[in-house]
Amino acid sequence: MKRIVLSLVMISCSISIVFAQTVIINRDPRIENLVKALSVDNLRFNVNQLVSFGTRHTLSDTISNQRGIGAARRWIFSEMSKYSIESGGRLKVEYDSFMLEPDGKRVPKTVELKNVVATLPGVDPKDNRVFVVSGHFDSRASDVNNSTITAPGANDDASGTATVMELARVMSKERFSATVIFACVAGEEQGLYGSTHLAKIASDKKWNVQGMITNDIVGNSYGNETDLKDNQKLRVFSEGVPVVETAALATQRQSVGGENDSPARQFARYIKEIGERYVENLEVKLIYRRDRYLRGGDHIPFSNAGFTAVRITEMNENFDRQHQDIRAENGRAYGDLPEFVDYNYLQKVTAVNLATLANLAMAPQEPKNVGILTKQLTNATTLTWEAPEGIKPKGYYMLVRETTSPFWEKKIFVAGSLTQFTLPVSKDNYFFAVQSVDEAGHESLPIFPKPIK
Ligand SMILES: [Zn+2]
Repeated sequence: MKRIVLSLVMISCSISIVFAQTVIINRDPRIENLVKALSVDNLRFNVNQLVSFGTRHTLSDTISNQRGIGAARRWIFSEMSKYSIESGGRLKVEYDSFMLEPDGKRVPKTVELKNVVATLPGVDPKDNRVFVVSGHFDSRASDVNNSTITAPGANDDASGTATVMELARVMSKERFSATVIFACVAGEEQGLYGSTHLAKIASDKKWNVQGMITNDIVGNSYGNETDLKDNQKLRVFSEGVPVVETAALATQRQSVGGENDSPARQFARYIKEIGERYVENLEVKLIYRRDRYLRGGDHIPFSNAGFTAVRITEMNENFDRQHQDIRAENGRAYGDLPEFVDYNYLQKVTAVNLATLANLAMAPQEPKNVGILTKQLTNATTLTWEAPEGIKPKGYYMLVRETTSPFWEKKIFVAGSLTQFTLPVSKDNYFFAVQSVDEAGHESLPIFPKPIK
């Protein structure tokens, strides 16, 4: 285990005190090597190849091998199949095909949709966790129903598709305890149809999906209007109150103040921590909302199905280069073209995905039945839990933060033989969570405790 010690100066604005603190960063060399294997040239090649099909509109030509969504999905399938061979056949590549009936809006006629889904099965039979990472390969121009006009969709969302393909190529050479699914989905622009179908399969087959990330619009580093050029930030959108929250869970949330501690928020914080652990010159910004105004994405069907799902999107968006016919108007150029994708930035976004998924899929499973004792009024905090199935953790981290803080501030290590821990601080004044950790430092997702009376 390599140790990198960074001295950070933290500034507390509210009380105007400046203090220095040493942060110890432990990186797993296996994950570092996977991050290094991500190729800017492959990402550029994948985006340009997808753009070369002219349009990838969901209702475009499926017969031609040069133009249309049929050629695009066959190319994705054949590339993924090459990665499968390189993985010794461990990566399983399949079409998830289904018929979409007319909806009178964005689907004027019956059409067959095909997602390309590559699965890297976990190696531990006692670990049934599944992590899904997606990008959508369909594209659109100004008129959402125009299926013949050129719609390059370089950033929206060849960038996310290229990310998923590069993750599949690199990650399928490693072995993980949990299963990782690399999904290139269709029908996003017509109504999130591809991911809706995949989320339904996950539900019907009772996959234990612990985290889903959609990468949509992840390759541009320039904001129109603001004129900001910044390749050092990306956004993770996460919902607060889960859509599927029951009345009983709502009552519990109201009593403990858990609005910012939904599984999606824990997952977003995890992406920030692990992404920044492995990727230099990149800040992960947590956006505490499900998605941007007027927009949706492929994480939403997964959230609606009760899974933990978030969206990754670039920091600054150029709306002249999304959902636009290629044209010039009053001296202004429009169109989602590949020369406006920042491939070095796209590599950093891909690295954040990789570090997160690898750390999670290598980690022990999360502790079970995590609780906080609330039997009586005390000025201490006792957390309890049970060991997970599968690989036994080396120990657990107690996570602590101020109730007003968006991020975990302290991690306290507790040896793996213990299943209870008491901190001499009032449970009324902080938020807590518990996560499992193994010998190499891979952490599970943090679990927010339930009150135990
Ligand atoms: Zn999109």
